[in-house]
Amino acid sequence: MKSHTRVAVIGGGVVGCSVLYHLTKAGWTDVVLIERDQLTSGSTWHAAGGFHTLNGDPNVAKLQGYTIGLYDELERITGQSCGLHRSGGLLLADTPERMEWLKMAHARARYLGLETSLLTPSEAKQLLPLIEEKYFVGAMLDAADGNLDPYGTTHAYAKAAKMAGAEIYLKTPVTALARRSNGTWDVVTTEGTINAEHVVNAGGLWAREVGRMVGIELPVLAMEHMYLVTDDMPEVIEFNRERGHELPHAIDFKAEIYMRQERKGMVLGTYERACVPWSPRTTPWDFGAQLLEPDIDRIAPSLEIGYEHFPAMARAGIRRVVNGPFTFSPDGNPLVGPVQGRPGFWCACAVMAGFSQGGGVGLALSQWMVNGDPGFDVWAMDVARYGPWATRSYTNEKVRENYSRRFSIRFPNEELPAARPQQTTALYDVMLAAGAVMGDSWGLETPLWFAPPGVEPRDVVSFHRSNDFPHVKAECLGVRNAVGVTEIANFAKYEISGPGAEGYLSRLMTNRMPKVGRIVLTPMLNPAGKLIGDFTIARATPERFLVWGSSQAQIYHMRWFEAHLPDDGSVRLHRFDMGLVGLSIAGPRSRELLARLSDEDVSGTALRFMDHRAMDVANCPARVNRVTYTGDLGYEIWVAPEYQRRLYEKIRSAGQDLGLVHFGMRALLSLRLEKNFPTWYRELRPIYGAFEAGLDRFVDLGKPDFIGREAALAEKATGGKLRRVSFAVDASDADVLGDEPIWHAGKVIGWITSGGYGHYVDRSLAQGYIPTSLAEDLRQGAFEIEILGDRRNASILSEPLFDPAGARMRM
Ligand SMILES: Cc1cc2nc3c(=O)[nH]c(=O)nc-3n(C[C@H](O)[C@H](O)[C@H](O)COP(=O)(O)OP(=O)(O)OC[C@H]3O[C@@H](n4cnc5c(N)ncnc54)[C@H](O)[C@@H]3O)c2cc1C
Repeated sequence: MKSHTRVAVIGGGVVGCSVLYHLTKAGWTDVVLIERDQLTSGSTWHAAGGFHTLNGDPNVAKLQGYTIGLYDELERITGQSCGLHRSGGLLLADTPERMEWLKMAHARARYLGLETSLLTPSEAKQLLPLIEEKYFVGAMLDAADGNLDPYGTTHAYAKAAKMAGAEIYLKTPVTALARRSNGTWDVVTTEGTINAEHVVNAGGLWAREVGRMVGIELPVLAMEHMYLVTDDMPEVIEFNRERGHELPHAIDFKAEIYMRQERKGMVLGTYERACVPWSPRTTPWDFGAQLLEPDIDRIAPSLEIGYEHFPAMARAGIRRVVNGPFTFSPDGNPLVGPVQGRPGFWCACAVMAGFSQGGGVGLALSQWMVNGDPGFDVWAMDVARYGPWATRSYTNEKVRENYSRRFSIRFPNEELPAARPQQTTALYDVMLAAGAVMGDSWGLETPLWFAPPGVEPRDVVSFHRSNDFPHVKAECLGVRNAVGVTEIANFAKYEISGPGAEGYLSRLMTNRMPKVGRIVLTPMLNPAGKLIGDFTIARATPERFLVWGSSQAQIYHMRWFEAHLPDDGSVRLHRFDMGLVGLSIAGPRSRELLARLSDEDVSGTALRFMDHRAMDVANCPARVNRVTYTGDLGYEIWVAPEYQRRLYEKIRSAGQDLGLVHFGMRALLSLRLEKNFPTWYRELRPIYGAFEAGLDRFVDLGKPDFIGREAALAEKATGGKLRRVSFAVDASDADVLGDEPIWHAGKVIGWITSGGYGHYVDRSLAQGYIPTSLAEDLRQGAFEIEILGDRRNASILSEPLFDPAGARMRM
């Protein structure tokens, strides 16, 4: 074993081997993989080897497409067979809702460059004669689906990496990790210690244990998973003989099963409701190539439906049942990337579909390590998307929920119930009493909308406009016509202070830092000029800045902030988490309301748009920002949590005769659409530049130095490839949800990032990205947006429909 290496990858499953291969491909060849036993000694050994492109997140779907395309390359480089069967796959819809979901997946596939087609039940039966047609309303064919040999594929990755110079140490368990003062890691194994600049946790079933070696508890849990292999089936033999090829894969959403041909029979796997975690606290180190006890009773409900839907399967004998464990994160997507607070320690774990995702994970991680950036949008699998609230028992509840819903539809307005409420503010019961329907915002219960008296506070889940529509409308009108109050505790809040704070923030952010008592809005860019943050920054004193951002990105941002902290101690960084909470009041009468709660001068000349002030509000020591995301006159009032209840009660009583309404996140998102405001995670993501996103006025290119400046200058000079635009859409009873294709002159030219109904302006609205060259096409109906399979006319809005001059914000 070497004494020093650039990267030590822990774990020789398909994911670790893919990371190793991709590191060599990216040019780092002084890399090693350390495996406890033999390659494929974890969940990889158990896998059924199926692969597909389907994923709820388009960016992950794209990476799955990349993974599947990679196998030919691996075989070519190494001569090692991956045992590929590219049979195509059918996704079978049993209800109109599921068919709508498939239509959306099909529409999205157009701009992802994936090859899918929609089929009638009889067309599906043509391809897969095992189907009992009457149970289905339609299907989608994904030509890329197939299966492979897990052992051969893992060895192909390993061989390709070794051919490029990587070393692999087998029978070498890693027992401890210790960080040296120079920032490198000592990787302690039973065979000696190797010093590494970077360590990758690809420990699969043991990822938690490897995480614990550096003092973290990763939100990952293994679940038992069963599939059965049938005896030879005459129907399969006949099909192969007649058609000369294999049967396609199939997913039956109703039965919650997947199936594919295996030799002359079939493999049938289930994601059963009564699912069971495996080794919920620790994974035994002596577990290896061994199976768990099968429990057919547990999967019987799925089998019963499956046997009705595929009668030939009921007649087939069962050759063997495989029960093996593999890992999931709470939302089912991998945990990838650098771990905040542990520089040089990276994750590539919780990969539940190693043969669909392993290549993409390896590509993303290797680019991230080599170039400092994954090179594309990996937010959906970034390990930083979870906060400290994602504890081991929380993870257990969420993973079970996710597993049992693996083939269920997640509606856009559907909030999943497991492990809730996890975090609440002091207003939780008050908000519920006011009719709040709550949603989960980064582990915190947050009001989505308010049901008036007599209306049940419950979402009817749908892809169409739903039961909340009139009530969200009433909230929006209440804000625009008078005043509304909403809870904003879920925002991310940080304090950055010290003598070096201004210089530090100036280097990180694109905008100039504000004067004391003032606020700026500012994007944050990576060196490639792509958006990695969007903040509101107030200067409280010359050396103290308060920073607000997106709740979901708190750990993501802390990781970046910490990585750029000067080491002279001149900058202090603090994430408030729930130590600072807030309420926002907005609407033309909000100033009158604030005036009733304070003896300060809050007139438009004393407390101007974009002012920040420390002042008493309703007796509470507060910090007030004169900004709101509604695009109206409004204020954010920030207090310590112990004051929030008093603040709310005083706002409520003082606002009664002003027409005060509650409004929730859904109204807030509708109001911001009317102003064409973008939102982090939808319009603002690391695949877009600041000018592409239309944030020009927040990028001060006159500043001599900030991260991403060179790239931003270049983007400004060329105009960028894409442009964020807002559309008015001729929708009927369904608005855009996000990720729909945008058509122009008969071709898909872009995609929607978000949208909904603008209740005050009474229009269906959307935002998305299109090629810059088309952004000037302002003709009515020049574009079409595909909503649930229908192409709807859409027209670019050159200015916001509400208050284009911004007079209301400044009044
Ligand atoms: C029954 C079943 C069916 C499946 N079917 C499919 C399928 O059809 N398609 C699909 O894509 N996926 C399938 N999967 C999931 C798939 O197996 C996983 O996604 C994949 O194996 C994850 O690979 P990994 O490399 O992350 O983890 P693992 O395969 O668990 O590998 C981790 C490796 O790390 C090593 N290791 C851990 N800790 C240490 C240490 N301290 N020191 C040294 N080495 C260490 C282990 O020995 C192991 O070899 C299935 C899984 C099961 C159980």
